[in-house]
Amino acid sequence: MSTLFISDLHLCADRPQSNRSFFGFLEHEARNAHALYILGDLFEYWVGDDDLDDPFNATVVGALARLVDSGVPVFLMHGNRDFVIGEAFARASGVTLLPDPTLVDLHGQAVLLMHGDTLCTLDLEYQAFRREARSQAWISRLLQQPLAERKAMVEALRRKSEQEKRDKPAEIMDVAAAEVQATLRRYGYPMLIHGHTHRPARHLHTVDDHTCERWVLADWYQGGSYLACDESGCRALQLSAN
Ligand code: MN
Repeated sequence: MSTLFISDLHLCADRPQSNRSFFGFLEHEARNAHALYILGDLFEYWVGDDDLDDPFNATVVGALARLVDSGVPVFLMHGNRDFVIGEAFARASGVTLLPDPTLVDLHGQAVLLMHGDTLCTLDLEYQAFRREARSQAWISRLLQQPLAERKAMVEALRRKSEQEKRDKPAEIMDVAAAEVQATLRRYGYPMLIHGHTHRPARHLHTVDDHTCERWVLADWYQGGSYLACDESGCRALQLSAN
């Protein structure tokens, strides 16, 4: 049995193709998994667990709950789009929330799981925003706003971030090699799996005479893909078109 990893689905009601891929994946591929890890940005945005009643959100939560009920543990790490997912979401869906980063033992191999945004240290502006937005004070202030206002605010942030992304040099949007090295060293030279950059690849890093594998997960804008890991290693798999 394989352990499966996905990230950056960016689910929202108006992206039906990705949604079909995701629901199909939960019904089929994920049913035979040892466990499923979702490494952030499951949703295009999440404005608070009081939005669980939204019909689209309820459908996603129901689909996750069916997988968990079938006996497959599902772990969820926050991404930069859905970091206010909280305990009510976890209770409703049955998923276990994971801190970023989390070190796990996978078939005897140490594997560090991250969303990936903390590795993009060349983007100083984003890191400054991240520090502010992940503070308890910022989150409390956000959650005190009426739901409709939060949605409007997040829409505005998304548009701003899309514009900024177009203006930023491509290398700033990728992980910083020095930060990857430092992270691998800090955690004892594990394998690293992360998403966020939407640049799927398998990298090899040599750090202090250790060779570490780093897998970058793909986004789900065009269909879906996942990483499947077992005793023999990991491989990136594409879902067949539907
Ligand atoms: Mn992200």
